[in-house]
Amino acid sequence: MDYKKIRAQFPFFKNNPDQIYFDSSATSLKPQIVIDAINNYYSHYGTNPHNIDSDLGYATNTQYKMIRSKIKHFINAKKDTEIIFTSGATYSLNQIAYGLGDLIKAGDEILITRQEHGANILPWYRLAAETKAQVKFLPETNFKIDLEQLTKVITAKTKIVSFSNVPNILGYENDPRKIIAVIKKINPHVIVVVDCAQGIIHMPTDVQKWDADFIAFSAHKIFGPTGIGILWGKEELLLKLKPLIVGGGMNTRIQSNGADYILKGLPDRLEGGTSNIADIFGFGAAIDFINMLTLEEIISYMHQLKQYAVEQFNQKLKDMVIIYNADAKVGTLIFNVKDVFCQDVATHLGSCNKIIVRSGDHCARLIGEIIPDKNTIRVSFSIYNSYEDIDHLVAAIANEKDFLGRMI
Ligand code: PLP
Repeated sequence: MDYKKIRAQFPFFKNNPDQIYFDSSATSLKPQIVIDAINNYYSHYGTNPHNIDSDLGYATNTQYKMIRSKIKHFINAKKDTEIIFTSGATYSLNQIAYGLGDLIKAGDEILITRQEHGANILPWYRLAAETKAQVKFLPETNFKIDLEQLTKVITAKTKIVSFSNVPNILGYENDPRKIIAVIKKINPHVIVVVDCAQGIIHMPTDVQKWDADFIAFSAHKIFGPTGIGILWGKEELLLKLKPLIVGGGMNTRIQSNGADYILKGLPDRLEGGTSNIADIFGFGAAIDFINMLTLEEIISYMHQLKQYAVEQFNQKLKDMVIIYNADAKVGTLIFNVKDVFCQDVATHLGSCNKIIVRSGDHCARLIGEIIPDKNTIRVSFSIYNSYEDIDHLVAAIANEKDFLGRMI
């Protein structure tokens, strides 16, 4: 992979040549083709894809459909109409939980892991509170869902299982195909949701091979724009979801008694209102960008960076840091500097060294139940990072004796 050529495609670095960006798990930087695609929509298309009475409206609608289809291929869904545009993974997970509300009753069980991001915890707690169902936890060993013990927690009461295939802190991969096979063998009626917000760029997504029921992800973590994401579901299940948003474009009839409206088919019934059209154009370009590089190459490069970082940390910072996920393949490094609060380190790196990292619990607020320090530093790698970036990070930590002193 020609790292320099790739990096040159990200205008962020032209405008911030001295910054090192290690927060791609929170949001990735955007290549020029994504920015151009958004601009292209506003400059050339301008029209609403719901209005196809003009040539331009028709052209916008055609692009819109092509992008939906591109995303279908990217995750290997069966039909274009199973791809629902949302504002992001958080919205998608909320739509699933809200939409399933009528199917859940008192005593039912919803299973998640303790590593989930808030977006895959709170919608389920709210659903449980409203229906008197119970949220329970999937068994984990070495930070992965334990397939053997899984057989003991799936019962006739289990209605929903929702887990991330790549949790956003430690990043140990859960294999959706194996997990779903175990669950469905015991109880084929369980609805399985995979939060792919991180996994979408760290492993190939194949919803048919996995036999998943729903997945959720955001474009902004995979080189696309903010404010746009995907809810995918099996057709028959999407049709059972009660829409979270009602309004224009999603119904065929409203009667004046107000109570009775007929929903359109998929995807419209779950896409009320005018979509984020410009960012859908940008999203399409992000998928093209990934396909051009190939997802496999991106994943492999991130693994190499992670491995190099672990080696360098072990060689040069051994007595200074604690690493929590050294043997996770995924391109994130979770660590703390001994006896220094993570945010002090992150602020020191960010303000004195122009190295952008993330600190805290990374919105996975139950993580303290499975690792000793709830708050950590997360360095997340992407294709625009280099081995030299890692050398700078290591040097910035190694050369610092008094983090707080330097900042004052
Ligand atoms: N799930 C995971 C695992 C995440 O890492 C995130 C964001 O960091 C989300 C869900 C929510 O994504 P968004 O904020 O784009 O809706």
